[in-house]
Amino acid sequence: MKPTPAPAAQPAPLSGFFGVFRYSRRALELVWSTNQPLTVSIGTLTVMAGVLPAGVAWVGALIVDAVVAAIDTGNAARVIEYVLLEGALVAVLAATQRGLNLCQSLLRAQLGQRVNVMILEKALTLELRHFEDSEFYDKLTRARREASVRPLSLVMRSFGLAQNAVSLASYGVLLVKFSPWAVAVLLLAGLPAFVAEAKFSGDAFRLFRWRSPETRMQIYLETVLAREDHAKEVKLFGLGRRLLDRYQNIFDKLYQADRALTIRRDSWGFGLGLLGTAALYGAYAWIAVSTVQGLITLGQMTMYFALFRQGQSAVSAGLSAIGGMYEDNLYLSTLYEYLETEVPAPRGALQRGPVPADGVRFESVSFTYPGSTEPVLKDISLHLRPGSSLALVGENGSGKTTLIKLLTRLYDPSSGRVLLDGLDLREWDATALRQRIGVIFQDFARYQLLVGENVGAGDEGSFEDESRWREAAAKGQAAEFIERLPSGYQTQLGKWFKDGRELSGGQWQKIALSRAFMRTGADVLVLDEPTAAMDARAEAEVFEHFRQLASDRITILISHRFSTVRMADHIVVLERGRIVEQGSHEQLMELGGTYASLFTLQAKGYR
Ligand code: ADP
Repeated sequence: MKPTPAPAAQPAPLSGFFGVFRYSRRALELVWSTNQPLTVSIGTLTVMAGVLPAGVAWVGALIVDAVVAAIDTGNAARVIEYVLLEGALVAVLAATQRGLNLCQSLLRAQLGQRVNVMILEKALTLELRHFEDSEFYDKLTRARREASVRPLSLVMRSFGLAQNAVSLASYGVLLVKFSPWAVAVLLLAGLPAFVAEAKFSGDAFRLFRWRSPETRMQIYLETVLAREDHAKEVKLFGLGRRLLDRYQNIFDKLYQADRALTIRRDSWGFGLGLLGTAALYGAYAWIAVSTVQGLITLGQMTMYFALFRQGQSAVSAGLSAIGGMYEDNLYLSTLYEYLETEVPAPRGALQRGPVPADGVRFESVSFTYPGSTEPVLKDISLHLRPGSSLALVGENGSGKTTLIKLLTRLYDPSSGRVLLDGLDLREWDATALRQRIGVIFQDFARYQLLVGENVGAGDEGSFEDESRWREAAAKGQAAEFIERLPSGYQTQLGKWFKDGRELSGGQWQKIALSRAFMRTGADVLVLDEPTAAMDARAEAEVFEHFRQLASDRITILISHRFSTVRMADHIVVLERGRIVEQGSHEQLMELGGTYASLFTLQAKGYR
């Protein structure tokens, strides 16, 4: 695991309070641009839901006073009117709350989809290095996990806070008639708890960010313990208990910090809340005494009591909204960091090179992976002409796959350049370049789609073209077993789906090879050990097949089997990122170096 990153930009003090709103504006913009009518409805309903309770309390006061008056006159008509009015207000309030729920549900669905699409669209523009960077990958997964709820939740909580503020303001308007001091008590009584909540939520926010690597490990362990692709090994090696213990230990560690924070938060919350309650009951006594002294009516007393009670619950609802808003902010900060990741704009725009039949050239290419100091490729120079085949040989980790990654522009060289038809790869238009080069990596993708689509993936334009699948599968030696599958080319693959079939390793490799044969337009074809699970004879046949089909193309093969390697026109031996030997099989045998000794060693094994 990487070292714990420094906690993200610390909010300045008192940002404890303002930090909650950091992303509210952006969340609101997002919601607004997703569905304006729904956003306007939510806004309107929020204000109504804020004002109506004060109205209800006010009518409540009128009822009590009317009752007191009616006791003398015996005429209850007024009272009935007020009761009906209060009933109507309560009904409107209920409708408002229902409406809020309804709008929320609709907006949640739309917004979830929208954010997910934003996340995935961004993913399409990212470079391979992003996916290989753990911090970044973490952002991506976290952003995806809660995409459907967080943005709306932040907006709803901001609105909820606004609603409570409106309520408090309207209570204030009614209370100010009694005494401006009463308004002050109502607001100040909530303040200490409010400040405490904001402060501790800020701590929680930082805690969450800081612990991200541990959380990532926990999620990873969950995946290992609970997913089908790991189940086999975990069972047979008996790793389950050990990994589960690790999972538990991480929790215990995180829990310590959590517990400390929760205890501090709740003790302060309780203490300061008590202060508020005391102030409130002081106000109650004051109102009661004023009533006894005849300064206010009985109806006003009930109203003020109600206002204080509801005011208190508005304050505590506001407090919990703030707590939640911190978490939502945390999510949105991750989301926006992810969405704002800088992706270099595609630079090249050229569709063809100046020397059309020049093939591929590596000119003094060196490469160091981002975040690493040790170069993986050093001073590589190579020239491959159309119609030639190249085999790359070398121990694991000698840089063979990396060389292919540079050739396919998944990475750019740190120094030197790679040319196709005399043009630096960086100047090629990305799509034009992609069409020229076909690669099947050792860890090729096994899509849980139809068998045919797994073949078709090799040529995006013919992804669903069954006749092309058939041709390619025949060349890749996959046709035979595919036709024996229950639904032929239409068979669903993968365990995620009902009736999904599993293929053996060798069958998958045949699919991958067929995928390579889909790329009829590509004139550079690379096979990075996709035949390792086949026996030596099948591999040799496949490679021979490739050479025949690829008469005017460049074929590059990575293999540990010298029986196949020897068939290539040109063989390059890599050792720790450098070319140590190169030439034809005969030349290298004559040289009597690394290649010759490895070849002899393997040939002995076969005798
Ligand atoms: P080969 O294909 O010859 O087995 P690779 O080209 O895959 O070797 O790897 C060469 C070296 O580069 C290895 O030491 C490996 O650890 C390192 N390496 C490979 N991929 C990455 C990566 N994404 N980030 C950092 N280092 C890498």
